[in-house]
Amino acid sequence: MKVTIHKGSQEIGGTCIQLSSGKTSLLLDAGLPLSADSQPVDLSRLTVDALLVSHPHQDHFGLMASLPSGTPVYMGALARSLIDATQVFLGKDRYALDFHDFKAWQPFTIGDFTITAYLVDHSAADAYAFLIEAEGKRLFYSGDLRSHGRKGILFENLVKRPIRDIDLLFLEGTMLHRNNDLFPDETAVENTIFQTIQQQKNISFLLSSSQNIDRVVSAYRACKRAGKLLVIDIYTAWVLEQLRQITQNTPAMDWPEIRVFAKHSQDERLKANPEYFGDFRKRLYLNRVKREELHATPESFLYFGKMSSFHLIDEFKNAAAPVNVIYSQWLGYLDGKHADYFGSDQIAAYRSDPAVNFVYAHTSGHAPIEDLKKLATALKPRMLVPIHTEHAERFQDHFDNVTLIQDGVPFILS
Ligand SMILES: [Zn+2]
Repeated sequence: MKVTIHKGSQEIGGTCIQLSSGKTSLLLDAGLPLSADSQPVDLSRLTVDALLVSHPHQDHFGLMASLPSGTPVYMGALARSLIDATQVFLGKDRYALDFHDFKAWQPFTIGDFTITAYLVDHSAADAYAFLIEAEGKRLFYSGDLRSHGRKGILFENLVKRPIRDIDLLFLEGTMLHRNNDLFPDETAVENTIFQTIQQQKNISFLLSSSQNIDRVVSAYRACKRAGKLLVIDIYTAWVLEQLRQITQNTPAMDWPEIRVFAKHSQDERLKANPEYFGDFRKRLYLNRVKREELHATPESFLYFGKMSSFHLIDEFKNAAAPVNVIYSQWLGYLDGKHADYFGSDQIAAYRSDPAVNFVYAHTSGHAPIEDLKKLATALKPRMLVPIHTEHAERFQDHFDNVTLIQDGVPFILS
């Protein structure tokens, strides 16, 4: 079997790995690089039998539309709905690719390959690792994963009942040089949100990704404990609506502790896409909270927002008490090098603004090194290849059987 890492051996993001066996060639992820210095892989002339997308984060699927047209694309059904949701709210067309979905833990075949998707705990919903078998060889691709989210049991299962006879393990190493000590898990995040809003005299804003469902749940649970209302925007409400495909247990806009703040720009998307949204717009307005209501009793609310919420945050800055801004995503976005995140400079400035109580509450979407070691020890791969890491060379200090495969250099697994 031939293994080629097109991108991802030396960086976090942009992951793209090709496997070829017999007459069949597969791509694992087609990611857009996260770093502006990193060039996307040119996939326009790459003929593969299928692309497997591990999860709905841009750095794993962002280049899928650049493959030759007609290339089959496999991903979870919910993942596809979440990607569609983002496209529609960005005012872009939904992807019109040859999509196929798969079921967790049920093997399926593509040409010479047999694939089993393992649902994993990650900061994206519907995230998978893949077991891939061909020519009597067994590869396991971790995708992005962790044990400390709300679906940590999935990681524990991989460790407790490990898959046997792995010839090659592609193991993500996002956290090789980072730690998660401040907030070891999602419960720690929830507790900080709760403590921040419990006695609040003004509104709180929580800045995170609406597709980080664990974080929405943490915000919801903190509100319930503190007797506050969780305010979400239309996009977040629609994301939560997609979760109904798989569970009735995640918060939704019609739950009693939740209100929807209808931003004009998002409402325009609803009006522009009536067939896609069905009766959602009508139902949404039953759960609406108006701007005047937020201003009347700001201490009653936690607003789940994003970096671009700074205009709304500023509206509340003149009140008698500081606005709580709970920053609930990777701090690196505030380093001044992420101008593409609209609002990041304004949010960064809140750290020294006396009218703002800036609180950090975040746990990573990725496993810290101790957990990666547990997984590697359980899987006992004959070969461990680092991926999705800036520190591939340090894997040898922590893991057995490490082989470094460089971007663009084919490797024959025999
Ligand atoms: Zn991810």
